[in-house]
Amino acid sequence: MSFDCQTCGLCCAYSESWPVFIGDGDGKGIPDEFVDFENQRMLSFGDRCTALEGKLGCQVSCSIYEKRPLVCREFQAGSEDCIMVRSRSGFSPTST
Ligand code: SF4
Ligand code: SF4
Repeated sequence: MSFDCQTCGLCCAYSESWPVFIGDGDGKGIPDEFVDFENQRMLSFGDRCTALEGKLGCQVSCSIYEKRPLVCREFQAGSEDCIMVRSRSGFSPTST
């Protein structure tokens, strides 16, 4: 099974309340325009993280990839959560 995150991006457009910063230093260095300081998480436009560039399900990238939050680093392509996100969005749960 293969998952190409750069043609997906669905977990970056799943919820306005995700991703949150979860520890000391998490979120540091991310430009202010992408940060919801009040709620200590990424700023979203609807459910979509403002740092996500491109078109969902086609070609996407994270504009702050090197500084992305911990939860983004830990989210695993092919995991139960990944498959759930893809299924909810109407994409094949198991292939790109
Ligand atoms: S939902 Fe899964 S395949 Fe899609 S970008 Fe996120 S981790 Fe990658
Ligand atoms: S910070 Fe980057 S990896 Fe994390 S949700 Fe936003 S676009 Fe996706």
